[in-house]
Amino acid sequence: MSATSWVASANAPDHNFPVQNLPYGVFRTPGHDARCGVAIGDLVLDLSALEQAGLLGAGGSEPVFGQPNINAFMALGSEAWARVRARLTDLLATAGDPALRDDTTLRGRALLPVDSVELLLPIAVAGYTDFYAGRQHALNLGTILRGADNALPPNWLHIPTGYNGRASTVVVSGTDIRRPLGQRKPPSATMPTFGPSQRLDIELELGAVVGQGSTMGQPITVAEADAMIFGFVLLNDWSARDIQAWEYQPLGPFQSKAFASTISPWVVTKAALDAFRVPTPPREQPLLPYLQEPGPMLFDIALEVAMQPQGAASSTTISRTNANTLYYSAAQQLAHHSVSGCRMDVGDLLGSGTISGPDKGQYGSLMELSWSGQQPLQLDGGQTRSFIEDGDTLTLRGWAQGDGYRVGFGECRGTILPAPVRPEWAQ
Ligand code: CA
Repeated sequence: MSATSWVASANAPDHNFPVQNLPYGVFRTPGHDARCGVAIGDLVLDLSALEQAGLLGAGGSEPVFGQPNINAFMALGSEAWARVRARLTDLLATAGDPALRDDTTLRGRALLPVDSVELLLPIAVAGYTDFYAGRQHALNLGTILRGADNALPPNWLHIPTGYNGRASTVVVSGTDIRRPLGQRKPPSATMPTFGPSQRLDIELELGAVVGQGSTMGQPITVAEADAMIFGFVLLNDWSARDIQAWEYQPLGPFQSKAFASTISPWVVTKAALDAFRVPTPPREQPLLPYLQEPGPMLFDIALEVAMQPQGAASSTTISRTNANTLYYSAAQQLAHHSVSGCRMDVGDLLGSGTISGPDKGQYGSLMELSWSGQQPLQLDGGQTRSFIEDGDTLTLRGWAQGDGYRVGFGECRGTILPAPVRPEWAQ
């Protein structure tokens, strides 16, 4: 039997937040500042309250959990991460230290129903880099944009390709997203037009959160990179396909991706996911030595996408896939990112790239699911969709399935609002 918690709701076998998980987030309650917490069952444990009560110490010279992000805690390093995880497990497990369980006053102050708090962005995002490690996604998008003969770019099996995205517009789940304005030019048109994106899309990704920095000019190994990763979030890298198709050559995506990226509020630690490590798929071309992995560095994480039009009675699950299909791991991506001497910082966020499985129901974007709009999706309730319409809500979910428990990510959700109106730019 797997370990249980005295927080009863955490023990439901399909709950995202059992005692085996303990993901970190940041929350706020009316009249109080933002502070760090972990999710346990249907509750949030206020780490700042535990720190002040002397029940929890991260080991630094200053308290770290009263901060509005987990960066100060992450900066303390992997020994602190392990020490705090062990202490929290002891305080929350059924057979552990009863110091919190038996202190009614502290329990009332430190354990709050998740419905009663506002969940905020858990990290101060230092930089956001988006990779392209889903082989099926790269193949699908390449086929749509360039034809089957040139689908996979010549570098793809050798380099974890990526681009530097915007940290400024990484937002937490539940944040409404404005449809972006931009230039688009269908292949049949001679001149570009300007206006709201008409091919707005999601990208189902995992985000790796960098918990330890590196030094400018100093490359890191894949093993060092793996040790620097603190944890993972679900990431929806919203994408405007019409803007992307017109702008992406030669320097890659720009405005088509810059307007928003949504992450889940809970950072699931690498420690909680260690039991679910799996190797990357067989290499189709040998990798250069600096990219070779010393062990399994992907994770077996089931992933789902649900879509719900405004006013619809229910959502429709439009994709089911798994993070074990990625061709490059986050550790390989981070090692590659630093190999030129690029400095990595605490709070850097690395997007995996869209995660698409080999079959159609496993694709991680609408561009692929509707095959560029040629095969619209049928939603429960009768509506169809090729791309996102105003008022649609898109929700990502993910979890690693253990024996009798789940290590889950919760939800990564966003609703699309109409584009801003600027009549002076009308054509
Ligand atoms: Ca992406």
